[in-house]
Formats: sequence, C-alpha cells, structure tokens
Amino acid sequence: MAESLMGSDDSADEAPQFTEEEIEEAWWTDFTTSDFWTDEDNVDMLQAILDLKYNDYPGSELEADVEYFSNPRLVVYCLVCSNVELRSYKHFSTHVDGKPHKKKAAKSVYEDTCSTVKRLSLLPISKARMTYAEGTLEYELQRSSVPAIGMGFVFKEKYRGKIVYSCQLCSEARLDHDDMFKHLTCSSHAMEYIFVKFQKNVSLANLPVERSRVYECEGGVNFSIVDFSSHLPSKLQEASKSSSTLSPTRVSRLSLKDRR
Ligand SMILES: [Zn+2]
Ligand SMILES: [Zn+2]
Repeated sequence: MAESLMGSDDSADEAPQFTEEEIEEAWWTDFTTSDFWTDEDNVDMLQAILDLKYNDYPGSELEADVEYFSNPRLVVYCLVCSNVELRSYKHFSTHVDGKPHKKKAAKSVYEDTCSTVKRLSLLPISKARMTYAEGTLEYELQRSSVPAIGMGFVFKEKYRGKIVYSCQLCSEARLDHDDMFKHLTCSSHAMEYIFVKFQKNVSLANLPVERSRVYECEGGVNFSIVDFSSHLPSKLQEASKSSSTLSPTRVSRLSLKDRR
C-alpha cells in the first residue's frame, strides 16, 4: 500500500499517485464542481476518486478519461452499463445512484457469485471435518475406528462439578466421558438411531455396513456437543459437599427413564 502511494523512481511515466487524504479532500471539494471536470489534468485524480470511493463496491467498474472536442473535458465510462458516458458531477451522481445502474451492478455481482459457486465442488459432510481440542469426547469420537452416528441426540452438562453426557435417543443420562464414548460406539445406539431415523431394523451382522452408509451421508461429529449446563440450577452444577451414596449417573439415569 505504502509503495503504491509513494510511487517509485522509475515510474516517471506512470500516473501520479495520491494519498488517501488527498483523494478524500478532492472528492469532498473539487469533484462536485464543474471546473474539476473541465481540467484535463484532473483525470488521474478522477480515476483515483473512482477507485477509492466507488470501484471498491462489488459490481462497480468506472473508468476516467479525457475527451477532446472544442475543449478538453473529463468523462467517466460506466463499464457495467455498457460504457455509458458521464461528463459532469451531476450526470455522474444521477447515474450511479439511479435504479438502472444499481440493477446492472447487482446483476454483475450475482453473475460473479454464480460462476464462483460453479467452480466450487462441494465436499461430502463426512469429509468436512471440524477440529476439536485434544482429549475432548468429540476429538476421540472423530478418531474412533467405529464411526459415531446420531450425535444430534447427545448433550452435555456440568453436573456436580464434572462434565457429563446424555443421549436423549437411548435415555442414557449423565454418563462420564468414557461411558459416553462406549455408548456412542456401541451397537445399540447405532441400531436405535437407524431405527428411529430410517424406520429400519438392522441386524448385528448388517450394522457395520449400515452404520458406515449413514456416516458417509450425514457425517459423524459435525458439531461440538451442545452444552446444556445453563439449564441446570447453579447449585446442581457445583460439586456436591455432602457425600451421596448414589452416584450422580445412577440417580439421573433413573430419573430420566421414569419419565418415559
Ligand atoms: Zn452504470
Ligand atoms: Zn444413544
């Protein structure tokens, strides 16, 4: 940026460069006057104004030039509107603020976007992997030899001082990290998921194939596991001071199953 503003020694033939302040200043003061448009020396400043204030906008392509009839006069070509010629500030501002120009500018942005989208090839969701912090359940599931599916039913909470995981699909509540890993890679969770989602009873023998098929289509761990800690009263989130004989996992599993 600094280089282009300063110019360089061997660029004597090139257009003079202006600082952003100089361009802003000229845009505020001279650009709107008719004197500005009748002085051919202003052509570079005119182009600098167009580039700084207008051509940065998507779909805008304005080019400054000088016309020589009886007197020299500056002209702006709007390339988006098939080289419409604008010869004064009034003419210029009416054009760029006008509906036909805005429509054409928007259309050219749309066409650019379409051709960009056409060039992109979409990645299957199972390949578009998110990265998770090492040691998290998501991280380990991503690296599991058994693909984890049906992750949308899983949420986590901070419960009595530690992070626990629940599977709403199988009514498994508040399992610790290792138990939830086992649950999500076990046969029964995958079978239940395929049954609920696709109304398909899968045999144990067919499960690896069916599970891989679902994984290919839906991906496995596409999102961080939702944290529902805020749904719990803060008293329940903190580590319990009284020593309970029932483990938290046990209690909550019962309470969740009771609701069925
Ligand atoms: Zn135009
Ligand atoms: Zn489950």
